[in-house]
Amino acid sequence: MASPSLDASLENLEDIDQTLHDALVRQEFLLHYQPYLDLTTYQVAGVEALIRWRHPSRGLLYPDDFIPHAERSGFIDSIGEWVLNQACAQMSEWIALGLDIPSMSVNVSPRQFSNCSLPTLIQTILKEHTLSATCLDLEITESTVPSDEKMMRTNIAALRELGVKISIDDFGMGYSSLERLRTIQVDRLKIDRVFVSELALNPMDACLIRSMIHLAQQLGLSVIAEGIEDAEACVRLHSLGCDQGQGFHFTAALSADACERYLRDVQHGQRLDPCRAAPSSQVYYSA
Ligand code: C2E
Ligand code: MG
Ligand code: MG
Repeated sequence: MASPSLDASLENLEDIDQTLHDALVRQEFLLHYQPYLDLTTYQVAGVEALIRWRHPSRGLLYPDDFIPHAERSGFIDSIGEWVLNQACAQMSEWIALGLDIPSMSVNVSPRQFSNCSLPTLIQTILKEHTLSATCLDLEITESTVPSDEKMMRTNIAALRELGVKISIDDFGMGYSSLERLRTIQVDRLKIDRVFVSELALNPMDACLIRSMIHLAQQLGLSVIAEGIEDAEACVRLHSLGCDQGQGFHFTAALSADACERYLRDVQHGQRLDPCRAAPSSQVYYSA
């Protein structure tokens, strides 16, 4: 939910555009990174880039405070380009340091997918950072309706043709999760954390998750669950056939430096079996 103070200062679309533009110029945006793990091997399967805004007077702002404004004003295209660039630069740096990260996930709003220049932009960015398209995963968020549904479909097909992976974020919660599956081809479903958070308490959640995993398997898609906060949920999800998992049980989103330490430790086998041991994410966490 957007903070009231920020809402009050962003009264019209021109103001929003200007404020966000100034923040971009002043380099006030930054990315945090949240790893996700393969639930069979406990190795890192990828890292998700999550934007933050280091606001000069309001402190660290989270995406729910400003992304909806950016989507409304259209400035999401500029922010999105910055995020893609920054995430790819970081991925390239980590690969050069010898870190093994199969995938970098970037959240992309339906509005960005409606922009006809998105595939070209992504190709240019991948080339600039000498990255293979197969290591980029775009998570379609459900925050807005695409301004051009047909263009979104065309862009997604073009991006998949390049080798870029496409995931549906917050699956099960969006206004059109199933409709999306009917109209666009994707690679992965990301089960919304609302189904995961009460898995142990609510038998209906286990039933729904089992059905979502079955659906994904029938369609040849992989499945990741977000919002895993304890070992019990982790073990249960694995037994239900879920491929990958993400959540505070493993680690919260981390600064780039802290994430690098986390990745190094997992790679060198210094971390305990995350399904049995308490996570030590506090060691890594830094805002
Ligand atoms: P999302 O992509 O579904 O990201 C997951 C959110 O859940 C993140 O919040 C993350 O910090 C939080 N989370 C992770 N693990 C847990 C857990 O175990 N328990 C709980 N309770 N929460 C957990 P964050 O960073 O505030 O992001 C919120 C949303 O903002 C994202 O949801 C995504 O839709 C959007 N977003 C983030 N970065 C970008 C971006 O660069 N572009 C666009 N368009 N949207 C973005
Ligand atoms: Mg996401
Ligand atoms: Mg999500």
